[in-house]
Amino acid sequence: MGHIGDEIRRLHAELDPQGVGLVAVSKFHPAEAVMQAYDAGQRIFGESRVQELVAKAGELPSDIKWHFIGHLQTNKVRPIIGRVALIESVDSERLLEKIDAESEAAGVVTKVLMQVHVAEEETKFGFTPAELTAYFQERKFESLKATHLCGVMGMATNTEDISRVRADFKTIAELRQRIMSIAPDLRGFDTVSMGMSGDYDIAISEGSTLVRIGTTIFGDRQY
Ligand SMILES: *Cc1c(COP(=O)(O)O)cnc(C)c1O
Repeated sequence: MGHIGDEIRRLHAELDPQGVGLVAVSKFHPAEAVMQAYDAGQRIFGESRVQELVAKAGELPSDIKWHFIGHLQTNKVRPIIGRVALIESVDSERLLEKIDAESEAAGVVTKVLMQVHVAEEETKFGFTPAELTAYFQERKFESLKATHLCGVMGMATNTEDISRVRADFKTIAELRQRIMSIAPDLRGFDTVSMGMSGDYDIAISEGSTLVRIGTTIFGDRQY
């Protein structure tokens, strides 16, 4: 099973020179698989369920940076505060306020990305571009006390139509720039997290700075 380590090295050889970060999406894969990637040098891992992230964080090396990438319910925020390096999937103001309150109570600053909904699927979570620009136009972020907004995250429509995928990624990347022009005083709103196993090359060509790759590294998930 040298496969996981080989994929990590191959991806870093491809991504590092372009300045693109790699989140190894380890959801539904066991701790041993994470360790194979870790031993090949990988340090950022993505999880989509609170219990799974907390369990893995408890048993795996403490220099791992855990990114939460799934839909997060407000009543499940507390266990991951102080344990995650980045919550990539903030999809409502209510969730953001909860993260902020829990972070303040814990005496930490939590880094987050705002999840943008551009894909055609009804089921995908996130702010619409209009909702997100309104949030910044109204300068609601000024009320945050213990949360650092670090950029945007999004997914393209799940389709064979490459031009649609490209257009979705372009919309996400342009949205970050638009937000910067609406609120030029925002600091560190730099991250554009987009691109998965099937489409990360397109995402990078449209301005992704962080890709989230699971299947290519770890194989199929056993749900
Ligand atoms: C599962 C997941 C990924 C990884 O998808 P792959 O196709 O396995 O690379 C990326 N981003 C999010 C938000 C996910 O839930």
